[in-house]
Amino acid sequence: MRGVEPYPAFAHLTTLPDEKSHVRFAVKSTMKYVRVHIALVFVALVVLLGVASFEARSSRGQSQSPKTDARVKPTVLVTDARKAGTENASSIFAAAAERNGALHNELVWSFGGKQQHGWYLYDSLINQSLNTQNDASSSGFAAALASWQKKVGLNASGVLDEESLNRMISEWQKNRLKDRTYAQPDQLVTAPVSDFYDSERLVELRQVERETYAAYKRMVAAASADPSLNLAHTPNGELAPNEKYFRIVSAFRSREYQDQLRRQSPNAGSAGLAVNSPHFTGRALDFYVGGDPVDTKDSNRAIQVKTPVYQWLVRNAERFGFRPYFYEPWHWEYVK
Ligand SMILES: [Zn+2]
Repeated sequence: MRGVEPYPAFAHLTTLPDEKSHVRFAVKSTMKYVRVHIALVFVALVVLLGVASFEARSSRGQSQSPKTDARVKPTVLVTDARKAGTENASSIFAAAAERNGALHNELVWSFGGKQQHGWYLYDSLINQSLNTQNDASSSGFAAALASWQKKVGLNASGVLDEESLNRMISEWQKNRLKDRTYAQPDQLVTAPVSDFYDSERLVELRQVERETYAAYKRMVAAASADPSLNLAHTPNGELAPNEKYFRIVSAFRSREYQDQLRRQSPNAGSAGLAVNSPHFTGRALDFYVGGDPVDTKDSNRAIQVKTPVYQWLVRNAERFGFRPYFYEPWHWEYVK
């Protein structure tokens, strides 16, 4: 409150400080010039009153005491600015957090020629990209997003809008398998049926690129050894026969088989049965991560992305050389 009490020394005066100083000056003068000084003081008072009445007229509706304001304002402004600075910093992210809370389920965007709603299916991937564990509607998430936005040259709003989501998706897509050459027979190994989700899967559908298969086995051994996943496993780190998670749903798919799938499900859409499917490289694997194994319906993917196995994959698959296809929680590509 220091700034609101600018003139404690003059608190007892009914006259303005400026008037008083003129009076004090007059009293100190010699008697010889008293009359002259009184005249001067009178003139000064007249001038002051004139100025005061002019100011009062011109400042009507703004302030009752312009002189006091002139001295008080700087202090108050500095205090307000400092206060506003802190409040703005947190309120920017509070507002962004509130916006994210809505966009999380409602953002309308498009992928694969299909309208999409919200980004809640990608929470784990987004948090991994932002290196945060904050809830999508928190200020911490907005702050983490803002620093990512700044890093990639976007407006650091902290709001995950369509532009930022598309940018994040393009980063994920860039990280996918680049070499899409067709697997040669000598690059493929045939995995035992016990590795597969379908216990009767035909031998010609059990081929995997050699290094991809070795990396898959290392990853499954690590997952089995992780007590947080609680996977049923044998003492030597193999999945137990009753464990469905991590079983291979689909591996190498020949062009012929891919064509056959497309004929069987002409409306499957571009996501599952792409003409240029990475499955014919032998380096793409579909694992069981929960729900209906390979169903792209939002309701199914919502189940899959919440399983501990999927979330473990998002955090750990990279260590084994596997990277995700964001749209299909089950589809992982060996990129080494
Ligand atoms: Zn796949």
